[in-house]
Formats: sequence, C-alpha cells, structure tokens
Amino acid sequence: MTANNRETILVVEDEPEIRRFLRLSLTERGYSVIEATKAEEGLKLAAEGNCNLILLDIGLPDLSGMEVIKRVRAWSHMPIVILSARDQEADKIAALEAGADDYVTKPFGVLELIARVKVALRHASNKAETVESAIVEAGDLLIDISLSTVHKAGVDVHLTPTEYKLLVTLLKTPGKLVTQQHLLREVWGPGYAKEGHYLRTYMGQLRHKLEDEPSQPKHLITEPGVGYRFVP
Ligand code: CA
Repeated sequence: MTANNRETILVVEDEPEIRRFLRLSLTERGYSVIEATKAEEGLKLAAEGNCNLILLDIGLPDLSGMEVIKRVRAWSHMPIVILSARDQEADKIAALEAGADDYVTKPFGVLELIARVKVALRHASNKAETVESAIVEAGDLLIDISLSTVHKAGVDVHLTPTEYKLLVTLLKTPGKLVTQQHLLREVWGPGYAKEGHYLRTYMGQLRHKLEDEPSQPKHLITEPGVGYRFVP
C-alpha cells in the first residue's frame, strides 16, 4: 500500500463507536477516511467525488440506507458496502438488489471488513479497466466461457446446461456476493425468484463436480439466507 496513492473510504454511520473503529481500522491499513453521521451529509460528500468506496450503515437517523443506495446509483457505480445487524436479512437482500456490492454484519472483525473492502475496490477497478476475460482460473479449475468448457485438474467436467449457467452467472463477479433472487431470475427466469431450493440443489451438484471437498467449498461459497459468491 503506497502512501501517495491512497484510496478514500466514505463512512456513513451514526454510531460514534463504530465510526471510530472503522476509522482506526481503515487508516491503519493505508486508506484515507472521510466520515458522515447522517445520510444527507454522506450523499453530499459522495457527490463531491473524493471517495472510492462507501461504507454505509443501513439504519441512519434521516434517510434509509436503501434510499442512499438508490440516490448514489442514479449517478455512480462506486462500490457500496453496507453495515447491517444480524437480524436484518431482508434489508441486506433489498440493499444488494438496490445496487450495494456487499455487506458486513455487525459486530464484525477488522479482517472481514478489510477483505470485503478490498474485493469491492478490486471489482470496481476491474470493471473500469479490463475487458472481461473469457477464461477463468480458480485453483485447479479452468473455465473457458467462449468454448463453454470446464476442466478440473486437466480433466473435462461435464455440467448440465443449468449447472453451467449458474456457474457462469457467479463467475461474472468474482468474490462478489450475488443474491439468491438474482441467481434464480438469471438462471431460471423471472417467475422463479422464490424457489431457493433449486439453488441449493444445483449448488450442491456443482460443488460435487468442482470442489475437492464439497462439504468445505473453497470456490462456491454460501452466504446463509442471502446468496452465494464465487471465490477464485
Ligand atoms: Ca445506525
């Protein structure tokens, strides 16, 4: 991390202790931090264009986190990582659907926080700078999207069309959390958004074909109650 090329994180959080924890954790790792205690103030700072990522509390005193996401997404693709409480599953899903990139659940550890921030920043810079590669490598997996082939340790793996579509939908955003609803709509169609058991079944099949230890997956990760992510 170089001091002359610092990425700036905008923290929008009304609880002073969490703000303090975020400020210390992020500055210690070389990020610059700017802070807002209310949504309107956060939106103003974001619009000034001096930040690379927003860490956004869902429960703010003036506007809902969802409203903030919608307003930012009206003009910017900058990564938004939300901070939410453990019992706010529905809010997390709504926030992801509204355009948030990821979330961390309170209380969170500094390592998880930094990992989420790094993935979101990396994903944003990949989107801006590179043409999507047709070949994805993850451990001993080699997936060629242009040829629709999957190899594991050099051996051809046969996937059903549905398994393949599910895999490719997750691959498009490496490391990023994808909601169940999004996957169901993309793979099965708009009428299937509530059929979570389809996903569990097909994800199980994919893990058996692609993971060394399907019960301890390294690449196809479940985020309970919310969705899945592909970790290269
Ligand atoms: Ca709050």
